[in-house]
Amino acid sequence: MVNKTIKIALDGPSGSGKSTLAKYLAKHYGFVYIDTGALYRTIGLFVSEKGIASDDVDAILAVLPEIHIEMRLEQGGGAVYLGGRRIGDEIRTPLCSKYASDVSKIPEVRAFLLETQRSIARENNVIMDGRDIGTVILPDAQVKLFMVASPEARAKRRFEELKARGIETSLEEVLADMKWRDNNDSSRKVAPAIPAEDAVMFDNSDYSIDEMVDAAVKIIDGILNKG
Ligand code: C5P
Repeated sequence: MVNKTIKIALDGPSGSGKSTLAKYLAKHYGFVYIDTGALYRTIGLFVSEKGIASDDVDAILAVLPEIHIEMRLEQGGGAVYLGGRRIGDEIRTPLCSKYASDVSKIPEVRAFLLETQRSIARENNVIMDGRDIGTVILPDAQVKLFMVASPEARAKRRFEELKARGIETSLEEVLADMKWRDNNDSSRKVAPAIPAEDAVMFDNSDYSIDEMVDAAVKIIDGILNKG
């Protein structure tokens, strides 16, 4: 099949700088930015609002058909709607992070969100950030980057991000949550957060934002110009 759109897959663990980089790259290339974690977080939000425990798989499967989730293109990015309600920062809490990580282990949940993600990439040039974009969602992406950074560097970034959003937490709590999620996300049986064989590993631990963007643009231009 002919590849009509350009797809950049940006995978890696939480706090590795994916969303920051993805937003800059989307602007630089004029592509649509898709934050796939927001979809799992929204399922987590729905489940938690129903009062269901994050590990109660049977109860989660029972409510899955009630979930109407959409991604609408707004201002160059994908905005998530749950039953017509626009989802914002309420999915960024530590509780939603935990719920997202747990619900994302359920194969039916991943299958449920697959087409939403793929259909956007069929119609638009995209930068999609997540855990399994290069391996499962867009295996034919022209560019695959897998971000790496130390847990401490990532926790510090995530802590600053939460503080800026007015979400109260401590650096210790963020680091502990991050290590738990790293383990939960990379050890799961379905679509574990691991790099695709053809992914470029991108370590940004010691980069400023500008340096990170410049380095990523060089890699991406190199790959796109070769093809
Ligand atoms: O990227 P973010 O931290 O918002 O993702 C929240 C959670 O959603 C992750 O910890 C991961 O468990 C899950 N996720 C996933 N696959 C994706 C994106 C996110 O399993 N493509």
